[in-house]
Amino acid sequence: MKCRHCGAPLTHTFLDLGFAPPSNAYLTQADLSKPEKYYPLKIKVCDQCWLVQTEDYAQADELFSPEYAYFSSTSSGWLAHAKRYAEKMTYELGLNAQSLVIEVASNDGYLLRNFVAAGIPCLGIEPTDSTAAAAEQLGIPVLREFFGEALGQQLTANGQQADLIAGNNVYAHVPDINDFTRGLKAALKPGGTITLEFPHLMRLIEQAQFDTVYHEHFSYLSLQTVNRIFAAAGLRVWNVQELPTHGGSLRVYGCHQEDSRSTQAAVTSVLQAEVLHGLQDLNTYFKFQPRADKIKDDLLSFLIEQKRLDKKVAAYGAAAKGNTLLNYAGVKPDLVEFVCDAAQAKQGKFMPGSHIPICDPKQVNWSELDFVLVLPWNIASEVKAQLSTHLKSGALFVTAVPKLTVSS
Ligand SMILES: [Zn+2]
Repeated sequence: MKCRHCGAPLTHTFLDLGFAPPSNAYLTQADLSKPEKYYPLKIKVCDQCWLVQTEDYAQADELFSPEYAYFSSTSSGWLAHAKRYAEKMTYELGLNAQSLVIEVASNDGYLLRNFVAAGIPCLGIEPTDSTAAAAEQLGIPVLREFFGEALGQQLTANGQQADLIAGNNVYAHVPDINDFTRGLKAALKPGGTITLEFPHLMRLIEQAQFDTVYHEHFSYLSLQTVNRIFAAAGLRVWNVQELPTHGGSLRVYGCHQEDSRSTQAAVTSVLQAEVLHGLQDLNTYFKFQPRADKIKDDLLSFLIEQKRLDKKVAAYGAAAKGNTLLNYAGVKPDLVEFVCDAAQAKQGKFMPGSHIPICDPKQVNWSELDFVLVLPWNIASEVKAQLSTHLKSGALFVTAVPKLTVSS
């Protein structure tokens, strides 16, 4: 296999999680009596451009079930993050009724609704029908397409070049990152701004966030690699911000290469931090697997211990990262009785691989539980605040990453 950015042969494995079903392939009751497909889940690192990427495997297109949809608006923290972003960009870029904001992977309109409310024209690009329909209900025009160079050129031909192109948590999920980046270039007005948010590889490594690895997550990105990918497409990263979202993300600000804005000191400082964290040293990557294994072993020992003590353990949040963790650890419903999740689309279904049932948090008798394993550790404080009053006294919260933590 060759690197998806630079084409160099990929010879180094960063992480091998064995085989796993697609993390978003939630099962119905009827599915439980059918065979389930598992795909290899292996991550490679390129020693030329340092792009960390999933290994190719056969029948990858089967992974993306059109039935599944994550609705961004179900997280109140994420909605607030989107609102602050929209206000900041409107102010800094002086956006008004003559501007155009394009969001790639606009989901259910969680972000663009803020621009609609401010009277700023916008366009969402979203291939998933159910979320696109929800955005349209909010008055957001949506193109139901996958984004890439061809669509970028088509937008320009239609006079729809953007003053601002936003992409939140889409960049790491595109299979052809070069084509996607050329699309950004094509759809950007002269003087326009691109912002992309993605989990920062430096934080993934630092905090052993191995559960953020799943098949649909093609790339694990550092600033230096994104810099290279942008440059190859005729773009430039001129600013960057570190964000606390998803365990530590970057928001990069891009422009055309020849844009008059100068590159900010923050770019140099994040690039230096990445070097200090060993992101350009293969040994850093080779040391990661044992850390992931320890987290897996500690969680499994803890759950087995609770089972022996006859304690009741349930989980909160049927997120993709939960599936990676539970499947790598081989956890089944005898160790975690159920998972609850606020997303209606998942309720009544079963977690892929582990077959743990997913239920509505409103129907849970919280006072029966001894432990709540919070799978999306990035929103653990939000979950704790919501649940602590419902739990019996002495009941505890558990998170597995970056290390097993049991707390009230
Ligand atoms: Zn490469």
